[in-house]
Amino acid sequence: MKFSDLGEFGFINRITRRCPIQPPFILKGIGDDAAVISFSDDLVILLTADQLIEGFHFRIDETEGKRLGAKALAVNLSDIAAMGGYPIGYTLSLGIPSQRIALDFLDAFYEGITSFGEMMGVALIGGDTSESGERFFISLALLGKASKGKVIYRGGGKDGDLLYVTGWLGDAALGLRISEQGGNRAGKENLLARHFSPLPRVKEGQVLAERGIPNAMIDISDGLLADLNHIVEQSGVGAEVDLSGVPRSPEFQIWARDFAADPLSLALSGGEDYELLFSVSPEKSIQVAQLSQELDVPITCIGKLAREIKGIWLKDEQGRSKKAEPRGYDHFKTG
Ligand code: ADP
Ligand code: MG
Repeated sequence: MKFSDLGEFGFINRITRRCPIQPPFILKGIGDDAAVISFSDDLVILLTADQLIEGFHFRIDETEGKRLGAKALAVNLSDIAAMGGYPIGYTLSLGIPSQRIALDFLDAFYEGITSFGEMMGVALIGGDTSESGERFFISLALLGKASKGKVIYRGGGKDGDLLYVTGWLGDAALGLRISEQGGNRAGKENLLARHFSPLPRVKEGQVLAERGIPNAMIDISDGLLADLNHIVEQSGVGAEVDLSGVPRSPEFQIWARDFAADPLSLALSGGEDYELLFSVSPEKSIQVAQLSQELDVPITCIGKLAREIKGIWLKDEQGRSKKAEPRGYDHFKTG
């Protein structure tokens, strides 16, 4: 088998099989948004790592250094948010193509990442610097903490749970298309910002976890269907998504028709939303509504989990269901 046939998730499964035995203080190793390590009777340490690579995640001529810095931290913060955790500090390792990168760009990058870190209460605590020849590589490892009994995993979903998502889906994928193709209409800056300057739902994740509301949670980085598939597979239940409930922003409604042949699939599989997707026992739905009001964040019910469903099914406005292919972003399968 070729490496590219395996795909990103096939490859990760292969790695996981190689390290089945973990020491007892590792409460979760590979397989969730962050690793969970027992630290004391009531505290766990969380650790996540995400990288951004020039030419794949960003183009240097189309990206402001400051925004890129903040985004590199934001995508990692989103994984701590998905566990309901509190971020502490991060290491930053850079591969620098020294012949073509300007020092001004790197200064702006550091200005972006450290000022965003200050805003989010996390510090830069180390890293590594290397020549990288052709491309600019950005690699972060972010440390967080959480109360031991409060961490939310991908695999906690239960039969009958309602599925909720924060904010709006598809904006970031649409923002990327607009940045590549141009256009001028109301709401453009908001959509571009969703791609270039995502705001992770750290506070939302913390409050959800503190109140013990979700049974399962994940952040949406690869697209709703791909990330829901992780909850489904790890929880051992199926899901039905009500397509009319998939939240799309007012700006998305204005722009999507001209930039996507199928706007709905952009919202379902576009990726880089950095919203939270979580499942909740029906009796806690009132607490979700309260939290949405308190934090002034839209939180929408998009479907349910059920044991009798196999995989993910999409229900259209006429009530017809069809099985979904969990297509999202996969580094090795996207052409
Ligand atoms: P996320 O999208 O939430 O960042 P990923 O899909 O990147 O999560 O990763 C899923 C899981 O696989 C995580 O636990 C991550 O740490 C682990 N993982 C990803 N790549 C590797 C790798 N090369 N070696 C070991 N673990 C990996
Ligand atoms: Mg994640």
